[in-house]
Amino acid sequence: MEAMRFIDSHFHGLGMAARGIELGRLFGDLEGLGFAGGLDIGTRCDDLEKRIETIRPLSDKVLFTLGSGPWALQADADENEGKPIFSIDRIMEILKESLRLNPCSIGEIGLDYHWDYGTREQQRELLERQLDLAYENALPVVIHCRDAMEDTLSILSAHKARGIIHCYSGSPSQALELQRQGWMISFAGNLTYPKARSLEESLACLDLSSILIETDAPYLAPQAYRGQVNSPLLILETYRKAAAIKAISVEKMGEIATGNFERLLGLSKEP
Ligand SMILES: [Zn+2]
Repeated sequence: MEAMRFIDSHFHGLGMAARGIELGRLFGDLEGLGFAGGLDIGTRCDDLEKRIETIRPLSDKVLFTLGSGPWALQADADENEGKPIFSIDRIMEILKESLRLNPCSIGEIGLDYHWDYGTREQQRELLERQLDLAYENALPVVIHCRDAMEDTLSILSAHKARGIIHCYSGSPSQALELQRQGWMISFAGNLTYPKARSLEESLACLDLSSILIETDAPYLAPQAYRGQVNSPLLILETYRKAAAIKAISVEKMGEIATGNFERLLGLSKEP
């Protein structure tokens, strides 16, 4: 990997560890490659403490989100007699208790109509209550959206939310609308897939100041590594593709994404 500064705006550290990636070694390797920052993303309302305990000793560049995706609404046959593990009320209680651990943002949260996680009404309620929680605590959010861009857009525009649209999958015109509302649009490894024409067009039409790059590791390895366990070490292929679409160097793409990441999360020294 070339020496460059880069960020990974979305990965799941515990998920990588569960698939055999040795996190101590991973963050050590990243440090030597110019890793300038990353977001470790929550998948359950009650996982923040364990994620911080596991990853903070390994890297001072990683920030942590707190949130509950729509998958929390799924009936869990193994763990809880066919009911979701927590009710929405209980999820919100746990999230509020966990704010004492100072997450940098609320996420990932959102709608996923590809899978039947609870009802769509429940998905929307869980999203909206977490958008309110983020607003009350002046935190940005990380939005998950799968096959639900219309509803996502209408809910986001009705809330005073800001933050990241993760693993962007909408159309170019929706990307422009999200940019107009002030969102950062984060592109994952699927940007490198052969059938990514619409994603390429979305990235092409956005301002550089709205673009982030992520892995979503352990999922969504870029084309050259497809089917393997993904990790932030594999992110450069996605940076290269984004840089080629924007006709800039990969180092410049790294600088831009790093600057956007730091600005969103209040880490930059510039105003
Ligand atoms: Zn994710």
